[in-house]
Amino acid sequence: MDLIQLAYLVVAVLFITGLKRMAHPTTAKSGIVWAGWGMLLSVLATFFWPDMGNFGLMLTALLLGTVVAWWAAVRVAMTDMPQMVAIYNGMGGGAAATIAAVELLKGAFENPGLMALAILGGLIGSVAFTGSLIAFAKLQGLMRARPILFPGQKPLNLLVLLLAVALGLYLLLNDATTLIVLFFLLALLFGVLMTLPIGGGDMPVAISFYNAFTGMAVGFEGFAVGNPTLMVAGTLVGAAGTLLTVLMARAMNRSVWSVLVGGFGVEQAAGEIQGSLKPIDVEDAAVMLAYANKVVFVPGYGMALSQAQHKVKELADLLESRGVEVKFAIHPVAGRMPGHMNVLLAEAGVDYDKLKDLEEINPEFPTVDVAVVIGANDVVNPAARRPGSPLYGMPILDVDKAKNVIVIKRGQGKGFAGVENELFYADNTRMLYGDAQDVLTRLTQALKKL
Ligand code: NDP
Repeated sequence: MDLIQLAYLVVAVLFITGLKRMAHPTTAKSGIVWAGWGMLLSVLATFFWPDMGNFGLMLTALLLGTVVAWWAAVRVAMTDMPQMVAIYNGMGGGAAATIAAVELLKGAFENPGLMALAILGGLIGSVAFTGSLIAFAKLQGLMRARPILFPGQKPLNLLVLLLAVALGLYLLLNDATTLIVLFFLLALLFGVLMTLPIGGGDMPVAISFYNAFTGMAVGFEGFAVGNPTLMVAGTLVGAAGTLLTVLMARAMNRSVWSVLVGGFGVEQAAGEIQGSLKPIDVEDAAVMLAYANKVVFVPGYGMALSQAQHKVKELADLLESRGVEVKFAIHPVAGRMPGHMNVLLAEAGVDYDKLKDLEEINPEFPTVDVAVVIGANDVVNPAARRPGSPLYGMPILDVDKAKNVIVIKRGQGKGFAGVENELFYADNTRMLYGDAQDVLTRLTQALKKL
């Protein structure tokens, strides 16, 4: 037993070190590996727990889980990562809820404090499980991404939540094993109902929120069953998830409460946009860049879709070798997951010091000769400054304040929020149409000839 406790202590150190290393793009990959070793050690240690049985079932579950997770992780496209995070997250919540259900059905708790923790963890874990499944279905296109609203929705949601909480309290105070299943069904139903009205645009916040929920549920179950790994891992995930939720909500200028109440992301009629779209060809764009002193690249979801990060790096290197000052403007919700652009650009070998976040780069835009927008749309949409726009209040990169703007995109496609972008019609903007990777390759070739 002492050895098992020692193993769990090592696991805690591995998890904490892993999390610390994940905080910086250059060490993030190794952070995942550290945490992975921690997870492996904790699973191994569990096999040596006194009175442990059912080894056949445990090994079968492990094998099945490993094969499915390995297969999915190898195949998943970077752009589908949010769905993958959502579903893995949901599995964590579901696992915590299952522990609670099994222990409650066994009548394992004599201490009411521990039983309360198990019930609370069961409630939160169930909500995280079905909520994450709905988030997955919405992001994967298996169901409508827009908010699903119906009359009487909020009172119904509140009623289901209150019933689940009341039943939880009843279970705590009475010996009522038969009601345990009903309690879990209500909690699972609440997860579904709570996520239906959340629009696709708010999904990043919702996923981080469920992530925090999963962490808390795992932590509570850890305390309830006296398992130190679950306590440490759950507390870490709960705290990190809560921080991430708050940061994501702030980056989109939404309160966590308004996200959870839902209804955001309903398309609104586009206002009148002045001006026209003015195309530019690759040769003229190359000349513009060649004579610039300062160039800022603004990557977005389109860069990720096109996998153009290596071509951006090549172009940036070429410009720097010609004496141009180059920076990258990173919006916190550019792409489809937190840190999406940082990860891609770090993978391409872009120096981390050149990545500037919103607060840092925005005051610089008036001094930028050319801002090159690569498949970004919502995060540079000035409509976010106008009350009434669905994007209103989201802090944006002030690209429109640059002296010249080149926008690389394939055509007239809208951004994630489905809102027209007046930046594309501005006097200082030129549209460079095409797939980002292809355009950047041709731009680099054209620049080399100058
Ligand atoms: P957007 O989704 O707003 O816009 C992407 C643009 O890329 C489109 O207008 C599209 O236009 C263009 N594009 C697509 N494919 C290509 C390609 N192969 N080559 C060139 N361009 C291409 O991206 P942003 O990064 O600006 O904004 C992110 C949005 O996603 C925000 O609204 C954010 O809230 C939301 N979101 C963010 C998450 C996160 O955690 N970061 C998670 C979920 C949502 P066209 O079709 O004409 O090429």
